Amino acid sequence: MKRALITGVNQLEMGEGKHPVPLENEVVVQVEACGICATDRHIFAGVYPMDFPITLGHEYAGTVVEIGSAVKTIKVGDRVAVDPNVVCGVCDFCRRGNVHLCAGLTPLGITRSGGYAEFSAVPEQNAYVMPDSMSFEAGGMLEPLSCAIRGAQLAEVKLGDTTIVMGGGPMGVCLVQLLRISGSSKIIVVEPNPVRQKLALQLGADIAIAPSEDIQEIIWSHTKGLGADIVFEASGNSGVALTALSLVKRGGTVMWFGCCSKFDSIPISPFWVNDAEITIKGSFNNPFTHSIALDLVSTGRVNVDALVTDRIPLDRLLDAMDHGNFKDAMKVMIMPRMQGNTQTKGADNV
Ligand SMILES: [Zn+2]
Ligand SMILES: [Zn+2]
Repeated sequence: MKRALITGVNQLEMGEGKHPVPLENEVVVQVEACGICATDRHIFAGVYPMDFPITLGHEYAGTVVEIGSAVKTIKVGDRVAVDPNVVCGVCDFCRRGNVHLCAGLTPLGITRSGGYAEFSAVPEQNAYVMPDSMSFEAGGMLEPLSCAIRGAQLAEVKLGDTTIVMGGGPMGVCLVQLLRISGSSKIIVVEPNPVRQKLALQLGADIAIAPSEDIQEIIWSHTKGLGADIVFEASGNSGVALTALSLVKRGGTVMWFGCCSKFDSIPISPFWVNDAEITIKGSFNNPFTHSIALDLVSTGRVNVDALVTDRIPLDRLLDAMDHGNFKDAMKVMIMPRMQGNTQTKGADNV
């Protein structure tokens, strides 16, 4: 089967890999759509250390073509979305419900072969059967959406809260939609790209501003001079994580949701955190939120199809590893069954 193997930093080898054979508790999925995540680009560029060689791709969905002997809930022909986070189930974290912090976490497409391939072996417990009405691209989007759900849950959004999302990429716009249905009374997006701003506004944001504007002044004018109840950092930029602190209301919450560089640090005033009773939180992965994502998408509460702007064949993965080649894209989907060099734009289904 065809697969893309990352053999080292900035090295991608397209070629034939072994067709996966399922273990007794696994299913083999023919991959139909696999999203490209900033994490993939970070691993490829060497800023997110990982052991090579590896077939990346952790946001995927496809059709089951083979099942292991002990699989009970999935049959050949089922369309499934994959939760890539395979946990050990026996460490202290798993046994106390913190499966995302699992000491033996082995995510598909990060430490074991993932979705940039024609086929992938997936444990039964990580495969979610999708309704026929859901596109494979939407199935791939359940993974980032499930992470956004975790962030929204931890931020404890309340009815009427004023919220800010810094970064209007696919994650940021998933957060915008979740804040909308969670009852935020005003959602402000900070994002430099006008294409992304427009999509965020179409999908639920009330105000979009560029970081080059006087953000604090504008936000003060929209929040009675108080700041926002919750500020999400969803750009993965530590400078933005610092700015987020300056936009929160006294008593409010700053959610560091984006994945910043491991080597960055920022100054924080402990006096201010104490005096203004600020809560600073982080959010990691998607514990127990994949089925919530599936329900929110299948009922139309969250639109993830609109976030998929580009569909390209596996052969073009190397191009797509450079974000500069897809500057105005939201989510780029690898479609392993697509032939040729086609690129389709698809953000017209808002
Ligand atoms: Zn991802
Ligand atoms: Zn564990």
